[in-house]
Amino acid sequence: MTDGVRLVVFGRQGAGKGTQCARLAAHYGVPHISTGDMLRAAVRDGTEFGLKAKEYMDAGKLLPDDIMVGLVAERLAQHDARGGWLLDGYPRTPGQAEALAAVSGDAPFTLAINLDVPESVVIERISSRRVCASDSSHIYSVQQPPAVAGVCDRCGGEVVQRADDTAEAVRERLDTYQRQTAPLIAWFEERDKLATVDGNDAPDVVTASLIATVDERHHL
Ligand SMILES: [Zn+2]
Repeated sequence: MTDGVRLVVFGRQGAGKGTQCARLAAHYGVPHISTGDMLRAAVRDGTEFGLKAKEYMDAGKLLPDDIMVGLVAERLAQHDARGGWLLDGYPRTPGQAEALAAVSGDAPFTLAINLDVPESVVIERISSRRVCASDSSHIYSVQQPPAVAGVCDRCGGEVVQRADDTAEAVRERLDTYQRQTAPLIAWFEERDKLATVDGNDAPDVVTASLIATVDERHHL
């Protein structure tokens, strides 16, 4: 019943998108395709579009839409994506959404999910984060600080707030996200493909609500 889901998930930074995407993909038995991972894999494997992408990345340039579309098409053509897929972080613009609809061909996507967490919550979450300056996988927060203030429990490195994580920096990124995403939300809405799911709850509750939303649409 549940094979063949083709999902697009987007949400603000700090909305718990990565975690929820991994859970949804596992639940439906489809690959979780995040653009960052996809890009790294294509470059590593030296695919046609991976090689093109590498030229731009080496030159420190942003990837043009047609290369991103090519990368996505290459990835969706792989064997494991035949029974469905979950795209995380793509498309970002209505133009990319058009292109995705085109490469999806006779298997158009099921639903786009907007994982919605209020800005104030996200700002609070991110701006309370602290990381070890020696190893960024050692993560703390204002609520869960290291035993000795400013000193990493695991390696003794300095625990700091990243410049990217200040409330002001987060607010700026969220404004940009809002501006870029509004037309995308409208695009999916016009095609009756948008579902907004409240992400401001315990992770298990959010997962259950995501699955209920997808099942409802998928069995229409
Ligand atoms: Zn550390």
